[in-house]
Amino acid sequence: MFDLQGRSVLITGGSKGIGRGIATVFAKAGANVAVSARSQDQLDTCVGDLDGLGSGKVIAVRADVSDRDSCTALAEAVTDAFGGIDVLCANAGIFPDARLSTMTPEQLEEVLGVNVKGTFYAVQACLDALTASGSGRVILTSSITGPITGFPGWSHYGASKSAQLGFMRTAAIELAPHGITVNAILPGNILTEGLADMGPDYLAGMTRSIPAGALGTPEDIGHLAAFLATREAGYITGQSIAVDGGQVLPESPDAVTP
Ligand code: NAP
Repeated sequence: MFDLQGRSVLITGGSKGIGRGIATVFAKAGANVAVSARSQDQLDTCVGDLDGLGSGKVIAVRADVSDRDSCTALAEAVTDAFGGIDVLCANAGIFPDARLSTMTPEQLEEVLGVNVKGTFYAVQACLDALTASGSGRVILTSSITGPITGFPGWSHYGASKSAQLGFMRTAAIELAPHGITVNAILPGNILTEGLADMGPDYLAGMTRSIPAGALGTPEDIGHLAAFLATREAGYITGQSIAVDGGQVLPESPDAVTP
């Protein structure tokens, strides 16, 4: 049961943060892992750290998910290296802060370009390979922000993360006849480089609001991704699952007891 050995997995935004946590779990499980991002330096560091964790290969391919041609080249490179793609973790995403009153069209475009269009382009680029797999898996990294909660400065981000779920539901129907499932993980506050940039006050406040009493780890997301990637999860599609230590549950701050 739950054998991922030899499965070929592509993780966009895999060089750091949640993507790297997902890549770590798959590498330990013996999958062939391709991590992708824009910065070559971070990709090289990631491959160096992941190589040898399991029995599979680990490679890095530079790509920008907001560029359709870049996604096409990425899927071709991974297919060439591994002989196919069984699992796409469409994880790359950005969360810059901008209030509605001052948000520029460029800021809005950037977030939608990476988080929404990037999801479409990555999935479209991998479709032939996922179909050939016979048990293809698409795992989206959405968020609790947007689909369930809100936070000042993240109206564009929340909209982009909800858009991923709208995409997912129709993609799941279209791709089901090909044996491909499409599911989404909704992380709560996961301690990544990107989240750390929000500053210590933000991290402390968020930690206080989480019933589990701690921020999540990137591997917490990786463990659910790994399960959704198995052949045994083949009857689960179009679903979203929060991994948040209970963060969305409290009705008020008083509901979180120390
Ligand atoms: P992170 O630490 O900033 O890492 C983001 C990753 O995405 C990096 O590998 C980055 O590498 C890559 N990336 C960014 N823009 C890209 C682009 N245009 N094309 C390709 N790769 C790109 O962020 P994170 O916290 O791990 O977040 C990862 C995902 O989880 C995002 O979708 C985010 O919305 C979601 N999420 C995070 C949290 C959290 O608490 N951290 C909570 C909910 C959801 P380069 O910059 O080198 O390209």
